[in-house]
Amino acid sequence: MSLSHHTSPRPISSLPRHDWTHEEVRDLFALPFPELIFRSAQVHRENFDPTEVRLIFAAPAFVLFALIIGPFVIRFRRRYLRRKKGLCSACGCDLRVSKDKCPECGAGIPAR
Ligand SMILES: [Zn+2]
Repeated sequence: MSLSHHTSPRPISSLPRHDWTHEEVRDLFALPFPELIFRSAQVHRENFDPTEVRLIFAAPAFVLFALIIGPFVIRFRRRYLRRKKGLCSACGCDLRVSKDKCPECGAGIPAR
């Protein structure tokens, strides 16, 4: 595959554009990934010090990810540990004498 097919019709500019045509966007999506990385690095270097690490973008993304995923992980882990101990996964009630459902909350007991 030739890279000449993937040349941009316009020179790379650091100025924000709001006049993208469908063809230009389609051409961008068709670019090989390393070419996209190269172009984004070019624009970044025009606007920021390349030796400066900007942690402000990385930290909020991690925090946001933890805030979204965290409660699901905690809930899944708690339910898993309750099931492992023979307790109701929903309320934590002891299920050793129960057969089909939890006497406390009525949740079904999965087959052991
Ligand atoms: Zn229960």
